[in-house]
Amino acid sequence: MIVTIDGPAGSGKSTVARAIAAREGLTYLDTGAMYRANAWACLDRGIAPDDEAGAASVAEACTIEFVPEGESQRVIFDGVDVTEAIRTPEVEAVVSVNSAIPAVRDAMGKRQKAIAAGTDIVCEGRDMGTVVFPDAEVKVFLTASPEARARRRAVQRAGGDTAKDATATADESSVQEILESIKKRDEYDSSRETAPLKPADDAVMIDSSDLSLDEVCDKISALIAKAREASERKHEQGDAVPLAEAAVESDGAEGDKPAKADVVAKADKPAKKDKVLEPMKIVGNSYEDYYAHPMADYPLHAKATLGLLVGLVGGLSKLFFPWRLEGADELAEATRDRGAVIVMNHTSMLDPVLPVVSLYMRGCHVRPIYKSEFDKIWILKWAFARIGAIPIKRGSADMKAMRWATAALKAGESILIYPEGTRVKDDSESEIHGGFALIAQRADAPVVPIAIVGARDITPRGKHIPRPGRVFARIGEALHLSDIEGSRKERVAKLEKLVMERVFQIRDALRREHPGKM
Ligand code: C5P
Repeated sequence: MIVTIDGPAGSGKSTVARAIAAREGLTYLDTGAMYRANAWACLDRGIAPDDEAGAASVAEACTIEFVPEGESQRVIFDGVDVTEAIRTPEVEAVVSVNSAIPAVRDAMGKRQKAIAAGTDIVCEGRDMGTVVFPDAEVKVFLTASPEARARRRAVQRAGGDTAKDATATADESSVQEILESIKKRDEYDSSRETAPLKPADDAVMIDSSDLSLDEVCDKISALIAKAREASERKHEQGDAVPLAEAAVESDGAEGDKPAKADVVAKADKPAKKDKVLEPMKIVGNSYEDYYAHPMADYPLHAKATLGLLVGLVGGLSKLFFPWRLEGADELAEATRDRGAVIVMNHTSMLDPVLPVVSLYMRGCHVRPIYKSEFDKIWILKWAFARIGAIPIKRGSADMKAMRWATAALKAGESILIYPEGTRVKDDSESEIHGGFALIAQRADAPVVPIAIVGARDITPRGKHIPRPGRVFARIGEALHLSDIEGSRKERVAKLEKLVMERVFQIRDALRREHPGKM
């Protein structure tokens, strides 16, 4: 699903779009930041902001990444963190001229489409509903009086937040100065030839001057719910919609929200929509081929690499950190036809080795889910693909990763998830990233808890050289969504809580049995 929010400067688009992303489990795309970053780069490189050829060459060759940070995100342009630099009055003074250049718009529009491909996303800007995503399911045009907009910006600049404090005020002279600047920008953005700022014919107009953030969001959430219902009805009437897509949309329709979304993916190539899988080739397979195909279909050389990696890592790890995974025989037996969602505590890089190697030796495949940040290291990306691992964009509702994981489970492969996200080096409460119960629900798969102790002692906090030592792990009793009562949404939440409790119970039992092991 694509939701577009367009509107003039200061209408509250960013705050609203971010809140909607978090509420509805959508990825968030701030296209203004992309244009701002391009304008900043031109200033930084001594290129006149209205130099068409110069600005276009920057826009075409650059990389733009959005890296999540708490509730917001940082903007990285060609490897440089420009998050603060793109919000200065100097950039604001030139961004409209720069963004009016057709070749700049063309380059940015392509990136925006690439980011949105295959994802459920909310995109905010000026031409989202009119030019970049004319087929978006929900289109909003957000307005507010120039005075209300100028005041919001002035409060923001002074470090306040009108979304949290509706009565926040700002210095009157800065309000006037900003008012002048946004009027100028609005005029420029509305009168330019390419993709001018204007509402799409089918956009819903919302004036936010006298509405609170929640009131604006409620209106947009209602539009989203309606669009989801409409798409559900379309599926029921038998429209030819790929199965996986239908599942995603019907999930949403019943009110499930995947983990909070506050991130936008790196702007890379457009992802292909779900389609019938072509058989894997001997050479020339894409990474996505490795994520989407059952591991049994991998070409022979990939299977050999997997065997080699398992043998090597399994052998070496057993030598230095003699380990045992209790319950592996039973798990292999239970998951031959339909895989399990394996959930484990995360203390070291050794953790995934135990289930992957143990189950491989018993003829079963386990696909670890890993954070896509690792893909920046090409050798890891390459090796992870060979062992069947699936990257997930953290913090976002990464629907593609969900689909790959669901398909793997249905094919009798298990998936391995670390809800703690990063390795936890002490017993402080870690944030649990939800979503695994939703995958289990979609694939009708059991969730299996595993706990590991001793692995944290390999490289304790502050140390870098691994210390040999014994490692113990145990597979606990599986839980299934159907074992739990309540509405579907309640069951999913309860399942996640119960499974994590089980993981920590097993961990504590292992610690009691092996005193000193952490
Ligand atoms: O939304 P924001 O104020 O950050 O946008 C900065 C500028 O980027 C706008 O004034 C406009 O010139 C340009 N922009 C655009 N098209 C978009 C988003 C922003 O032209 N989709």
